[in-house]
Amino acid sequence: MITRLGISIILAFSVFAFATGASAQRRKTMVDLIIRGGTVVTMDGSHRVIEDGAIAVKAGRVVAVDYTKAIDGRYAAREVINAAGKVVIPGLINGHTHVPMTLFRGIADDLDLQEWLTKYIFPAEAKNVTEDFVRVGTRLGLAEMLRSGTTTYCDMYYFEDAIADETFKAGMRGVLGETVIDFPVADNKTYEQALAYSERFINHWRGNALIVPAIAPHAPYTVSEDHLKAARALSDRTGAPIVIHISETKREVDDSLKAKGASPVDYLNRIGFLNNRVIAAHMVWPSDGELDLLKKLGVGIVHNPQSNMKLASGVAPVPRMLRENLPVGLGTDGAASNNDLNLWEEMDSAAKLHKLISNDPKVVTAEEAFEMATIRGARALHLEKEIGSIEKGKRADIVIVDLESLNQTPSYNIYSDLVYSTKAGDVRTVIVEGRVVMRDRRLLTLNEETIKADARRYRERIVKSVGVKTVPED
Ligand SMILES: [Zn+2]
Repeated sequence: MITRLGISIILAFSVFAFATGASAQRRKTMVDLIIRGGTVVTMDGSHRVIEDGAIAVKAGRVVAVDYTKAIDGRYAAREVINAAGKVVIPGLINGHTHVPMTLFRGIADDLDLQEWLTKYIFPAEAKNVTEDFVRVGTRLGLAEMLRSGTTTYCDMYYFEDAIADETFKAGMRGVLGETVIDFPVADNKTYEQALAYSERFINHWRGNALIVPAIAPHAPYTVSEDHLKAARALSDRTGAPIVIHISETKREVDDSLKAKGASPVDYLNRIGFLNNRVIAAHMVWPSDGELDLLKKLGVGIVHNPQSNMKLASGVAPVPRMLRENLPVGLGTDGAASNNDLNLWEEMDSAAKLHKLISNDPKVVTAEEAFEMATIRGARALHLEKEIGSIEKGKRADIVIVDLESLNQTPSYNIYSDLVYSTKAGDVRTVIVEGRVVMRDRRLLTLNEETIKADARRYRERIVKSVGVKTVPED
């Protein structure tokens, strides 16, 4: 039986307990989101890995990364995600895509670049690419990338304004450039029109939290010297990055030597095109001297191992790029030459391809491959101050990955687990700019069933338009 005195003591005690609890809560800083209890792979300057780590996020940025106990003591959040038993990584960065080309996935395989482009891709594009095509293909690509833990991608295609709109609506981050090329394409019939489109596009999206608008002259062999200079001038005027394909095949280098008396890199340098806002896809065939030049100029490089293997374009000198600390990231290229947008496969392929070709299993370690998909990839896009690692002040692009799937068991070394055993399907939760866009494998900003139905409808049209053989012949 509780006496009156007992009741008063209990009451006094609960008031005291409530008061201390509330003041402890008050002493804590309120944030929007806390991810706690996971193994945090930061990719910061010292590549710190925190067992039982936590991250506090506010207004789209990381405000603290520490042990869970330390974060729990200092922060309280409206939303808390339990990442126990999981690994928490910076969002992956796909440095080179043509995202709507997901709709051409598998349309023509097993061909070299020139035949593939001129006989299949360019005709299929001429007959099918509209703004609606681009929107449908982009949503498919965005869903595929987010589901596999990619939070930033760098793209060049047509109707890029529609791509930016879809990307922004899906809550994903993109460095997006309207392709400019010296022949009429779906959205712009002349180079001048394309350049004017690019300027409007850049002015419209500049300053957006998720979209970095860029200008994307296709390649030194499809855009004239004057037009390349005009693209560079637009970049100088606006500060927008330039996305371009450089030195993809041996044939491109040989043709350039014949036609211009210089390799693609030497030629672009001679006309004053290269600088630290350029993002160069491929760079398969640079000489040692050219790599020194690219380093001096601060040109970002994107290595696309699976696309280069599939088109037999050659093997970029990535071990040397890493030795020289060049900003080299990883890309998938368009889904028609890959045929997916999965960075986990690019990491695995990059590590293995260079071991094989160098006859040296020590080159491109798992940790280096992971770095290329994160912080080094951010350097390639000239965004290393904003993304690529989990650090105080950076944008909160964070991915939570299972660590207990069959293919990951047992676990000894986190980088080995991530690069050699983890699959895209092990990605659980994806956060971009502090916002959860996939939770426990369910996309929150895109509808997968609608996306697949729309894509299948386009397949029917594309088959009719270019006469694709859909069943193998005898
Ligand atoms: Zn490309």
